Amino acid sequence: MTHAYRGRLAPTPTGHLHLGHAKTFWTAQQRAVQHGGVLVLRIEDLDRNRCKPEYADDLLEDLVWFGFCWQEGPDVGGPFQPYRQRDRQSFYHQTWQQLNHLGAIYPSPHSRKDVANALRAPHEGDREVIFPVKLRPATWEVATEPGEVNWRFRVPDGEAIAFIDEHLGPQRFIAGQDFGDFMVWRRDGLPSYDLAVVTDDHAMAISEVVRGEDLLLSAAKQILLYRTLGWEIPAFYHCPLVRDAAGKRLAKRDGARSLRSLRQQGITPEHIRESWELFL
Ligand code: GLU
Repeated sequence: MTHAYRGRLAPTPTGHLHLGHAKTFWTAQQRAVQHGGVLVLRIEDLDRNRCKPEYADDLLEDLVWFGFCWQEGPDVGGPFQPYRQRDRQSFYHQTWQQLNHLGAIYPSPHSRKDVANALRAPHEGDREVIFPVKLRPATWEVATEPGEVNWRFRVPDGEAIAFIDEHLGPQRFIAGQDFGDFMVWRRDGLPSYDLAVVTDDHAMAISEVVRGEDLLLSAAKQILLYRTLGWEIPAFYHCPLVRDAAGKRLAKRDGARSLRSLRQQGITPEHIRESWELFL
């Protein structure tokens, strides 16, 4: 069965977009165009403390300035609305219910560092916190609602999760070694990054996920979620991270390389796209 290509841009408005985002997003847009497909813009603003509405507004403006063009999104609407994660809580809750019903997740009172980080996509340099198997409960009370407790996905220990990345080729991660039981829900009622992104990519019929290479390991966790939920797994295309001259990955705090500041300096998007490296 062939499907229409549907790709997405999934920025998190915690700061201004920089060249690294633009380059990855440009690849996403080119792939959608090459396949005669649709590009969706989804604002990943789950983390209310870190995501600011001003950044979301600026982001739309910066994307348009740079030459991005999406067919579905918070500003233009589309068949899979809403396109902002903070308006999609009922979808995440449904996914929690399905996972709970399948017995794939368990309540975990243990508060570890990954609880704090659960809302955001991991980035280079973030150490993977592997949840100790000994803290997995043998049994737990049947729940119908998540309640005020964290929930984790029980990974199949020792199983290899293999997939072909469209850019990086064959990948293989071992559950229980490369990653452990990961968070799917936080006691404050919010889903984790992995649960939210899988729910949305599925609901929005995304056929290929194009994003930065630092999310490669997340793909393995996300594949487990797709598999458990019986949902079709999209293709993955992870792009190399954009680094500055010192080899450091660009971060939002490097204001100098924000699209906004390049624009204020009178630099054109065409110029940037012709020679990205000049601006790093
Ligand atoms: N919103 C995530 C980020 O800005 C990207 C998530 C994804 O593409 O899966 O890092």
